[in-house]
Amino acid sequence: MQSLTNRSKIVSNKKMTFSESIYLVAILKGMFITIQHFFKKKVTLDYPKMKKPVVANYRGQHILKRDDQGAERCTACGLCAVACPAEAITMVAAERKKGEENLYREEKYASMYEINMLRCIFCGLCEEACPKEAIFLTDMIVSPDQQRDKFIYGKDILVEKMEKRYDTSKRQKHLLEK
Ligand code: SF4
Ligand code: SF4
Repeated sequence: MQSLTNRSKIVSNKKMTFSESIYLVAILKGMFITIQHFFKKKVTLDYPKMKKPVVANYRGQHILKRDDQGAERCTACGLCAVACPAEAITMVAAERKKGEENLYREEKYASMYEINMLRCIFCGLCEEACPKEAIFLTDMIVSPDQQRDKFIYGKDILVEKMEKRYDTSKRQKHLLEK
């Protein structure tokens, strides 16, 4: 029968010599290759103590932005959830009450907003769909964990802290320049 590839090889049934039968040369060759790696530059990092630098347009953990007065920008319109191909976003909308103008920029806001980081594929479509410039993907890496429910990020993690504001303009600028 004709071979499907030209890589077929005739196997030799030649009797092994004594040195071949004790595999000494083969073991030494293997050890030499292993020892060589001790002196090569390591390709692994001691994560999370060391972190790999990421590109300027890296899409990592999301942030829900506040405006300059500290009010949440999100108006719970749901467009990000509709745009999300992984169905990773869930939210509950609520009406802003009198006196809450400093907390929420629009009359409607998200009383609950969650992203399932295990579902998210970090495509950035939620960011593109948002009409209020409320959601952005940052260069923060989602922290590893051993429990699945720890990957459901709520407003406590997602909403930007006023004392630790996040500059998303750099990544946006990079995207525009492309
Ligand atoms: S980055 Fe993509 S997958 Fe992740 S929440 Fe946004 S739209 Fe969904
Ligand atoms: S993040 Fe943007 S798109 Fe998503 S609900 Fe809020 S305002 Fe709408």
